[in-house]
Amino acid sequence: MNRAYNFSAGPSMMPLSALNQAAQEMNNFNGSGMSVMEMSHRSKVYIDIFDETVALLRDLMAIPDDYEVLLLQGGATGQFAAIPMNLSVNGTADYIDSGNFAAGAAKEAAKYINVNVVASSKADNYRYIPEVDPAKLNPNADYLYITTNNTIYGTRFDKLPETNVPLVADMSSNILSEVYDVNKFGVIYAGAQKNIGPAGVVVVIVKKSLLGNAMKITPKVLNWQLMAEASSMVNTPTTYSIYMAGLCMKWLKEQGGVAAIEKVNIEKANMLYNFLDESRLFRPVADKQFRSRMNVTFNTGDADKDAAFVKAAANAGLLNLKGHRLTGGMRASIYNAMPVEGVKALVDFMKQFEAEDARNV
Ligand SMILES: *Cc1c(COP(=O)(O)O)cnc(C)c1O
Repeated sequence: MNRAYNFSAGPSMMPLSALNQAAQEMNNFNGSGMSVMEMSHRSKVYIDIFDETVALLRDLMAIPDDYEVLLLQGGATGQFAAIPMNLSVNGTADYIDSGNFAAGAAKEAAKYINVNVVASSKADNYRYIPEVDPAKLNPNADYLYITTNNTIYGTRFDKLPETNVPLVADMSSNILSEVYDVNKFGVIYAGAQKNIGPAGVVVVIVKKSLLGNAMKITPKVLNWQLMAEASSMVNTPTTYSIYMAGLCMKWLKEQGGVAAIEKVNIEKANMLYNFLDESRLFRPVADKQFRSRMNVTFNTGDADKDAAFVKAAANAGLLNLKGHRLTGGMRASIYNAMPVEGVKALVDFMKQFEAEDARNV
């Protein structure tokens, strides 16, 4: 069976070389006589896998030594609560509401601290990244929270907001897709299932100087300080997901790392947006300045036609193009592991669909 071009927003495509290596190592990893799934997380053979994954991430993102790298559980959603619990000293934080996950993070944080939504594009269906009025920022906020890429609406922060408080970023859908200077952030975190590897593990990169302030009620598994002291092993980590994430990072390094894949990602996104800008049938949704390179949202303006397109595309091996239930229309998620050929195939298919549609009108 041929592998499909899978445009799912997450879990999403992974590099074939990583899947093949995992298949080869499935029941006997490196002469250990067992699968990685069967290993004790305290064994030397597994600790080596874990340490290599962390080292690869540090290398790929040039993470400075004064940052901890934690590999935790509970997804990005678990961190919606962990963030205020670990960072709050003054009991208040500023949030930029640029999408559904940002709103969800703010809502969760409001259970524990005072949350100020300092900018929102909700009233305009999150078509753009809202501008922040600097006067609205609280100088005593424990942090300013952003979502660098908005997976559902297909928007991306084209520049980071100016702030004097620690910047906390949900990078779930664009980590490792473009170069970021980690020094600009207090915390970067990301669920793995979009651009890192399989679901199960969530990466938290936190400046060491921000640790040690966890609220007393913080569950052990969400306590970054305890997790840092225990090398992310206060309890059993997601051993296999971490191993798979390591194989995907190895592939990324072979591609030339983040700077190299960023160029490819720009090329892929331009290919799609250039077509959408010229198309007589399909139209892009997000405002041009804030277009995501990872999640391209579009529609025809006709729900029946959208559904017919999604179905026909699936029959042609272009899977999971249906937009999120909140937006309708279509969404093509083109993370690192989506090859250029996959995007070409999609554009070719859209051209063909458009031509057939024009004949039928
Ligand atoms: C997918 C996603 C989440 C939710 O991730 P879970 O791992 O399912 O909790 C949060 N934020 C962003 C930006 C996402 O894309």
